[in-house]
Amino acid sequence: MLAPQGRLFGTNGVRFIPGVTGDMNFALKLAESIGTYFAEGEILVGRDGRLTGQMMFSAVTAGLMSSGRNIAESDMCPTPALQFATKALGYRGSVMVTASHNPAQYNGVKVMGPDGVEISRLDEQRIEKIFHDGSANKANWKNVGTTRPEPSVIRTYINGIMSRVNSKLIQERRLRVVIDAGNGAQSLAAPYLLEALGCKVITINAIIDGNFPGRGPEPHPDNLRDLTVAVRASNADLGVGYDGDGDRSIFCDEAGNLYWGDQTGALLADYLLERNPSSTVVTPVSSSQVIEAVAKRRGAKVIRTRVGSVDVSRTIMERKALMGFEENGGGFFPSHLPTRDGGMTTALLLEVMATRAAPLSRLIAAAFPKYYEAKLKVPVDPSKVREIMRAIERMGNGKVEKVDGVKIWVDEKTWALIRPSGTEPIVRVFVESETKEKADATAKKFAKAVKAA
Ligand code: MG
Repeated sequence: MLAPQGRLFGTNGVRFIPGVTGDMNFALKLAESIGTYFAEGEILVGRDGRLTGQMMFSAVTAGLMSSGRNIAESDMCPTPALQFATKALGYRGSVMVTASHNPAQYNGVKVMGPDGVEISRLDEQRIEKIFHDGSANKANWKNVGTTRPEPSVIRTYINGIMSRVNSKLIQERRLRVVIDAGNGAQSLAAPYLLEALGCKVITINAIIDGNFPGRGPEPHPDNLRDLTVAVRASNADLGVGYDGDGDRSIFCDEAGNLYWGDQTGALLADYLLERNPSSTVVTPVSSSQVIEAVAKRRGAKVIRTRVGSVDVSRTIMERKALMGFEENGGGFFPSHLPTRDGGMTTALLLEVMATRAAPLSRLIAAAFPKYYEAKLKVPVDPSKVREIMRAIERMGNGKVEKVDGVKIWVDEKTWALIRPSGTEPIVRVFVESETKEKADATAKKFAKAVKAA
């Protein structure tokens, strides 16, 4: 058996390269451990459009049934659709075969509880223990699980979103939207959702292809140029790019300006807080300071978490927050689903545009002041990371936050976040300030300090 070394679960489920860092014997044994952990009830299984998807799906369903679990098989679908259907259709849990935004060679699994949310770190460790102990259930021929199709995952998801936004108002506006699905799983849901919301939909890269030939599976302001061109060429009101499994969304306005997720996230927060003042918004330490300005105006509270969608989800649930968002395009709306969902984020942004009856560029400009960012990566010797971080911390003399890495407030409106990468021998330097020059200069200063430490 070819299996990943050490911990199986990373920051976002289990990920590996089939045939290189893990094989189908591994996938099957992992699924037997997951089935044993669930112990009872029916498990919903889905997958996105990766080249190894069908193979992995077969191994995962075989493993779950071998452990005695009954399963329901979804067609290909976005991760948030499977998560929402898990909850809405009353499953004991679900398993999604996906590697989200990772390059084409990767695949993996995400495990969700009955609420559609990724299981806790503790439960991940329970599954790892079953896996390593070899204590998974192996049902005999009379007791293996049953299987049946579950054809209504995407329909349930689309209906769920439509019931949580002001569909009638959005329909009346007849907005034009360009979708860049990145050859990923939202190809199967977002165009139909937006058509149901009365939008005129134009699609690019909206054919599922596990080679991700369009622009790769990760939406990023640097690779969404085709989207901005299509928005301008078609006089659209909005453009949206999704990641491979459809839980993240990056938007551009009618003029083709792209926004990071913390800018559109802050606009959505402003809109929701206007209706629900004194609520709580959750976002990682790396998001723009504009959310504090928005929250102050609305009498709301901001909770900063470590970087990572599971941290945001768990904090939203613990603190009964109104919403959460991430700079990389994650939007979390717990009245729908406390995990990120690109489809729900898009529908809600359309509701903001319909309600406030103004182009997105103007809505963003009106909601908060403009800040500039600078990002640098510094290669480091992994054995020196602790020493480097201690040296950086000493530079803070005053306002230092240590939620994740070291965040130093250089002045009232300038911060620098210095974080070692979890997966590569690099330290990331991320700065936000009121001018581009100051952001660049501050990032250079800290990058130099990381090198010198
Ligand atoms: Mg994803």
